[in-house]
Amino acid sequence: MTSARKIKAKYYSFKQLKLDHGLIDSAAIEAVKKLTAAGYSAYLVGGCIRDLLLGITPKDFDISTQATPLQIRRVFPRSRIIGQRFKIVHVNIRSELLEITTFRQAVKDHHKDKATGQVLDDNVFGSIENDASRRDFTVNALYYDVESKQVIDYFKGIEHIRQKRLELIGDPVIRFAEDPGRILRTVRFQSKFGFKVSANLVEAIHLNKYALNNIPPARRFDEVLKLFYCGNATRVWELLNEYELLPYLFANSDDNKSAQAALSRSITAAALINTDQRIREQKPVISAFMFCAILWPYYHHRFKQLINKKYNSQEAMVQASEEIISRQLLRTGMLRRVSNTIREIWWLQHRLEKVRKKQVIKLLSNPRFRAAYDFLLIRAEVGDIETEVAEFWTAQQRDKKNNTSKSSPKRPGKSRKRYRQRAHGRIQ
Ligand code: ATP
Ligand code: MG
Repeated sequence: MTSARKIKAKYYSFKQLKLDHGLIDSAAIEAVKKLTAAGYSAYLVGGCIRDLLLGITPKDFDISTQATPLQIRRVFPRSRIIGQRFKIVHVNIRSELLEITTFRQAVKDHHKDKATGQVLDDNVFGSIENDASRRDFTVNALYYDVESKQVIDYFKGIEHIRQKRLELIGDPVIRFAEDPGRILRTVRFQSKFGFKVSANLVEAIHLNKYALNNIPPARRFDEVLKLFYCGNATRVWELLNEYELLPYLFANSDDNKSAQAALSRSITAAALINTDQRIREQKPVISAFMFCAILWPYYHHRFKQLINKKYNSQEAMVQASEEIISRQLLRTGMLRRVSNTIREIWWLQHRLEKVRKKQVIKLLSNPRFRAAYDFLLIRAEVGDIETEVAEFWTAQQRDKKNNTSKSSPKRPGKSRKRYRQRAHGRIQ
């Protein structure tokens, strides 16, 4: 593995890089200054420096220091240590939350699982050089020294940013084995920044992808959310498909020849475009939405099967959603709040489709109405439902102020079948 000792750090001034010191969060600067005043070296590190160099406003400013977690706690009374395998200190400065980590050493073999090579303990502290070499990508191993206003670069991160290259530090096969979550981070950064990756790295993804099964479902869930909301989820999906990672993250994705899979693909594509647009417009997004879209065709198909088996619709809704969500939980885990929202949006689809006049006002004030309506629009867009149904609800919202409109949607007639067929790719 490339070691920090073999590579001499390069120093770049902020002026040389044409960066504006004023763009750096003042709370983060204050935290670094407090640590250095207490005698510990400290730097801004990682994504924030990378983003500044790319002309993107950083979403947070992480700090890396020589001080141990307990020493950090002593410098900042309003702080707490979180995490086990990887301890972090959360510090509050002027109602802002900062993450401070202690310089880590690159992991040695005795801190890894013997069979898988996965890192079990990442709390062995070291120097800044050690810390740089255990970071994932060269572009994420840049340190900013607040005092001298210099960026310290150990692994040609600045050159790689200029060349738009995403390179892991060290041997990709070993680094992915240490933490298979880095495979998903690769997809995220590759999509978000449009960076190139080497054939070598792609090969390492294929060699290690099975190990995604070894990371806890809750972490997989977090990583999937970051993928969906990175701003270029459409590209994320293409790459997950290209690297054959979808079956590790989503239930049913190995069943790709069914009509449900075809519909899932078109609904997913529309929902991804919609999500990217919402992020661009800084509109709120909900964690459940993409899961809701991807899994809907499987839920709906199962629902119809159960109805044919003489379940009543309430029972069929409960049973079908339980089955599909529990299969998904094996892949990503999910907070209960999220799985409840998925269920609510699905169940509301039935009610929005078979609207009764008396229920309009009640449905419009349902807290999940807006998300269910947004999903209905996507279904209409891909032909999973008649556009009249979506138009009806658009009109109802417009008329909400003047109380409930008297109009009702045209009953879905023969055209419904045509829409379905088109959605399943039989009619062009
Ligand atoms: P963003 O915050 O925009 O998602 P980031 O690069 O800041 O991107 P974080 O998850 O906030 O990502 O992590 C901060 C830094 O910690 C990274 O830049 C990287 O240096 C390091 N890091 C995070 N996760 C890993 C990992 N799995 N392996 C090695 N280093 C990591
Ligand atoms: Mg970050």
